Amino acid sequence: MTSHAFDTSAAGPTGAACPFMPVFGPPQVMFVRGAGTELWDAGGTRYLDFLCGLAVTSLGHSHPAITEAIATQAGRLLHVSNFFTNDAATAAAIELRDLLAEATGDQGQVFFCNSGAEANEAALKLARKFGGRGRHVVISAYGSFHGRTLAALAATGQPAKHEPFFPMPDGFRHVAYGDAAALEAALDPSVSAVIIETVQGEGGVVPADAEYLRALRRICDERGMLLIVDEVQTGFARTGRWFGFEHAGVRPDVVTMAKAMGNGFPVGAVWARTDVAAAFVPGDHGSTYSGTAIATAVVSAVIREMRRIDAPALAAAKGAMLRERLVALPGVRAVRGQGLLLAVELGDGADAKALYTELLARGLVTNAVTATAVRLAPPITVSEAEIDEAVAIIGTALAAGVGVAP
Ligand SMILES: *Cc1c(COP(=O)(O)O)cnc(C)c1O
Repeated sequence: MTSHAFDTSAAGPTGAACPFMPVFGPPQVMFVRGAGTELWDAGGTRYLDFLCGLAVTSLGHSHPAITEAIATQAGRLLHVSNFFTNDAATAAAIELRDLLAEATGDQGQVFFCNSGAEANEAALKLARKFGGRGRHVVISAYGSFHGRTLAALAATGQPAKHEPFFPMPDGFRHVAYGDAAALEAALDPSVSAVIIETVQGEGGVVPADAEYLRALRRICDERGMLLIVDEVQTGFARTGRWFGFEHAGVRPDVVTMAKAMGNGFPVGAVWARTDVAAAFVPGDHGSTYSGTAIATAVVSAVIREMRRIDAPALAAAKGAMLRERLVALPGVRAVRGQGLLLAVELGDGADAKALYTELLARGLVTNAVTATAVRLAPPITVSEAEIDEAVAIIGTALAAGVGVAP
């Protein structure tokens, strides 16, 4: 069998041969095993994973502490419903709250869910409840990504993603990212909250500057609006701090999380300041799988392991190492991002897709995050030797002229 999941040449990527709905395009590789930074496909070919399933497997594949947490909890208790709680969810809620308390200075409360989009749905509902009737509008940035459910999609500042699904839910407004004056100009008494990414991940790995984030905090304070920070991609040490907002010294009212929080096990959460969380009353929100024992056992294991290895410091150090080696490569115009969430910018006229394809063929998993930039998000546990190996692969492809701007 080849490394491809199935032959799409006969039926085409939307044809009957493919068992998946055609929302992702044809799969490039079928992986069967992972360990640390390494992946293997069905044909036995080894890859270095410098994408981590989009900043998810930050502790690497098949991490023993995560495997152990899943296996142990699977043999003990999976689920009991939210008429009750369970020991795993309670422990994880306290660990997560402690983490946010260290970063924000407020104890706060958490709600568990299963994905980033769901975390944002909960935050958007909380903003409406907090604002009250007539004060329901949420402002977000162009270029943002907040998820694929209808409200999260409406918050996502990418009009092309809305267009096929008109009419969108109302109560959403978009302004230029990084422009606090534009945000102020869009305000009126119907606005309850601002939702922002500290680094726009899907938007091309574009970090906000600290001044901008501080201006958003000030504007929200002046108007009594909530500052919601979407840390789904940036959270859990990825940027070199536990959360991206810490770089700017800004304290959000609401934080949404998912991705690396489960290291590949589906789980998400929203945290809010205690007085903000109090806007919710029983019956306002829920999910059958909120705080399910197995997912929350993983959350505790991730937090403990990330604390044990000092994941933020490790991400900062490895990120600096990777960045320094990438900027030295011919063909690289710039490297942007924070910590281990980086984009290699090749400049106008470059072809990031071509580079991505070549890198994959050479055994390096990345992603073409824009037409001219490739995203790198290796595990925080990546070794220096693996960084050298990945940079060598990229250097070889660029030296051969693949994807390079003319
Ligand atoms: C990935 C992502 C989401 C959506 O998360 P899902 O788990 O795919 O629903 C939301 N916000 C940001 C910033 C993301 O990167």
